[in-house]
Amino acid sequence: MTEKADIVILGAGASGLSLAMRLAQSTTFEVLLLEARSDPSLERTFSFFEVEAHPFHAALSHRYHRIRVRSAASDVVSVLHRHPYVVLPGEAFVDTCLRQIETSPRVRIRWNCRVQSVTECRDQVLVDTTHGTIAARLVVDARGTYRNFRSFQKAQERPEVCWLQHFLGLRVRTENPIFDPKEVILMDFAPPQPEGVRFIYVLPEAPDRALVEDTFFSSTPGQSSEYEAGIAQWLTDRGAGRFDILGRERGCIPMTTIPQPPHLRGRILPFGLRGGAAKPSTGYAFLFIQRQAEALTRALLRHGLDHPHVLSPPHPPLFRILDRIFLSYIAHHPKSAPSAFTALFERVSGDRLARFLSESASPRDVLSVLSALPPLPLLREAYRSRHLWMRLD
Ligand SMILES: Cc1cc2nc3c(=O)[nH]c(=O)nc-3n(C[C@H](O)[C@H](O)[C@H](O)COP(=O)(O)OP(=O)(O)OC[C@H]3O[C@@H](n4cnc5c(N)ncnc54)[C@H](O)[C@@H]3O)c2cc1C
Repeated sequence: MTEKADIVILGAGASGLSLAMRLAQSTTFEVLLLEARSDPSLERTFSFFEVEAHPFHAALSHRYHRIRVRSAASDVVSVLHRHPYVVLPGEAFVDTCLRQIETSPRVRIRWNCRVQSVTECRDQVLVDTTHGTIAARLVVDARGTYRNFRSFQKAQERPEVCWLQHFLGLRVRTENPIFDPKEVILMDFAPPQPEGVRFIYVLPEAPDRALVEDTFFSSTPGQSSEYEAGIAQWLTDRGAGRFDILGRERGCIPMTTIPQPPHLRGRILPFGLRGGAAKPSTGYAFLFIQRQAEALTRALLRHGLDHPHVLSPPHPPLFRILDRIFLSYIAHHPKSAPSAFTALFERVSGDRLARFLSESASPRDVLSVLSALPPLPLLREAYRSRHLWMRLD
């Protein structure tokens, strides 16, 4: 007999778990979460500007009130009085979600269960998995995305920007104490700049311990050895001495001007990275996933399973436009990116920038960020890329 559920969530990554955790607080729906991984662990660290309340407050490992951005031309330290940059370790995120989910008998998770196909019928969706078929009234597809990013890139028209933010991070313990545990290095453009943009990102835990990432914005991911060599060189240049590797994480996140996927395709709803949650110009997604999960839960509780299309896209129209212009600008002028980023941090207060980057900016915040950017190149880019941002989607 075919198993039934009101809502089937595909993928128990950051977005699937965030949604299931919220749905567990209501007693309205039978929810089944399907995940191909055999265990809950997520080997990644989520960081974001804390611009609003969120359910992970008690699980944060660090709160930084200073961020540094460094290029050949300048070295800027920005102070975050109101909106610290916070760190949520993957295991603390998963624990928080699972604790909430376990309180509800109506939300179940099936690990080690790979989804093979999803077929929409008239008033239900059939999900074929390695554990059998499930009939759902609504499917939330949170399977991440872009494993086939190359074919995705090839399929797009040339004027679109189809970049990736790809990186490898090493958690290191160094022989010498070179890190300032009170300060994040958001971007250090010291490494050689190949095609695209490259910088080192550092989340310090102690004077001799940090997560150090070699990050690229470009069209093709590299080999692990390239990133590791970049990190080793950066540590050597700062006098770290010998270092031990305590852990590693690797990521590849879309940065693209291609429109978000449609919000409701019948009864199959793309969600999380698959639903366009990653901010095109920065690759940050965690905060936007939390907002998506809140909004979808509210819409489902208010309107039931048949009308979740009241959901708005993950990024408001003004930010979609600005992101496309900015992404197009750095894709066409990658050599200007280090000075453009440092100029922003030099001229705009840390809290304003935090709100702007988190898309919770006031009109004054937006004006002050725009006036910190070079007006002529930006206007030229806005004109040149008008076909990318003037369309309605
Ligand atoms: C290493 C790393 C660090 C990051 N750090 C940050 C950060 O600091 N700040 C930030 O804002 N964003 C960050 N991001 C970006 C973003 O927040 C994460 O990628 C986030 O995990 C995306 O959530 P998701 O649920 O959409 O996708 P994922 O978390 O990738 O989840 C997708 C899930 O679907 C499962 N799945 C896939 N196919 C199937 C299938 N056929 N059947 C069943 N299950 C399937 C996968 O196993 C996976 O668990 C980071 C990303 C990475 C990779």
